[in-house]
Amino acid sequence: MTMIDNLKMAIPAQIRPRLRSAEFSDGRATFIVDVAGLDRPEAEQIQREIEAATAPLDGVNEVRVALMADRVARKIIAVGSGKGGVGKSTLTANLAVALSRAGHKVGVVDADIYGPSQVTLLDPQGQGLEARGNTIVSAQSPHGPRVVSMAHMVEAGKAIAWRGPMVGRALTQMMEADWADTELLLVDLPPGTGDVQLTMLQKFRPAGAVIVSTPQDLALIDVRRAIDLFRQAKVPVAGLVENMAGYACPHCGEISDPFGSGGAEAAAGELGVPFLGRIPLAMDIRAASDGGRPPASGEDENAAPFAAIAGKLAAWLDAEG
Ligand code: ADP
Repeated sequence: MTMIDNLKMAIPAQIRPRLRSAEFSDGRATFIVDVAGLDRPEAEQIQREIEAATAPLDGVNEVRVALMADRVARKIIAVGSGKGGVGKSTLTANLAVALSRAGHKVGVVDADIYGPSQVTLLDPQGQGLEARGNTIVSAQSPHGPRVVSMAHMVEAGKAIAWRGPMVGRALTQMMEADWADTELLLVDLPPGTGDVQLTMLQKFRPAGAVIVSTPQDLALIDVRRAIDLFRQAKVPVAGLVENMAGYACPHCGEISDPFGSGGAEAAAGELGVPFLGRIPLAMDIRAASDGGRPPASGEDENAAPFAAIAGKLAAWLDAEG
């Protein structure tokens, strides 16, 4: 048996399937171990067991264990808006549902400290979060995405008074939760350009940002500011979504445009960002959302615009590499 065989045999049988490579030279054993799907304490436990099992072998002076956390690097999309109440949370939840229906493994981080609503939108019957050691475990929404929310972490209304470091810690805990095999995290940011945004940009590099606006807010300086924040941080803006665009008549379904149509595409052009699509203002969208039935999970006409935007976002991510 070679030294490498000896080393492999010394590793506990239940850990061996996770071994991706083993090398030995000059008294140093180096292992690469796949710990995908495990949380950090579990991964560290495996690391210790490998060290304990191989270090005593004759000829071994040093053991190095590299943990390969994710085979697929998890991508982050930040969802922002210039101001509150434009439907950013609604869009985030339904984009996540539409993306998971299309086969993507998606998680939602609800970082909207002023109005965390993702639990209501995605998992109203849920049991809250489990924790393993210091790691919180994301909840599985029956509609597909996994979710962790500020609402899981603090009493209703309390987080609003938070500033800098507390907000940063809470965001970090959510981002570093156990997300199982999630490949894409959508982060529902608070409106504007505050502490959460800064921590997000400094600590976790989003692959891109989606900006949500209503037709009447498009021209406002707030939207431009939200876009500029990402630009300055060199986070590409995947595009602008126009929400509550046109009014879908609850009786006949016909869409009328009290604010005129086509303005959002023009505005996106002026702002220099792609246009991802529009979601009509529809009573059903609000009613279904309030009832914990994301419209994107249904089969009616309210699911289609979310699916279309999800498709564009997925294509954008693919193109970005
Ligand atoms: P934000 O996250 O920007 O503060 P929300 O997603 O919480 O906004 O939406 C604010 C309110 O508007 C919610 O009651 C939501 O159900 C409703 N809403 C959002 N988008 C639509 C839409 N397209 N049609 C009808 N109601 C909507």
